[in-house]
Amino acid sequence: MAIQRTFSIIKPDATERNLTGAVNAVIEAAGLRIVAQKRILMSRREAETFYGVHRERPFFGELVDFMTSGPVVVQVLEGENAVLRYREVMGATNPANAEEGTIRKKFARSIGENSVHGSDSEENAAIEIAQFFSGNEIVG
Ligand code: GDP
Repeated sequence: MAIQRTFSIIKPDATERNLTGAVNAVIEAAGLRIVAQKRILMSRREAETFYGVHRERPFFGELVDFMTSGPVVVQVLEGENAVLRYREVMGATNPANAEEGTIRKKFARSIGENSVHGSDSEENAAIEIAQFFSGNEIVG
């Protein structure tokens, strides 16, 4: 299996509750390496660009408000099959449907305030990583 990179965000509901380390512990226990990480405040423009695919969805405004409501931690994760592996570790979008042991089952408040983002394909991972990191900020 090839070594891949994926893009992760620890969302404002998690940073507000001081859960960055707790989320990172789950990530690392799953065999993924955090090869880049920074804590930022996302601008509305950045959030609208990042979630552009959801622009027509009824929750888009709420999603942008939420993602800009407090600090987020953007990350690059590396490991075998990292895109799919991280999706498994995150759990379902709605924490009510998430498997035991997943980040969203443990920490998410709701379908909107669900603690983490992870890329859904290798192609999107590359696009999302490039939105927030330059090459020399990623050290594998
Ligand atoms: P993900 O890939 O599991 O993050 O899920 P999606 O790509 O479907 O949705 C992106 C993000 O939009 C989710 O992680 C949630 O934060 C948010 N979201 C999705 N569905 C809803 C919803 O019904 N209501 C609200 N408020 N937010 C939602």
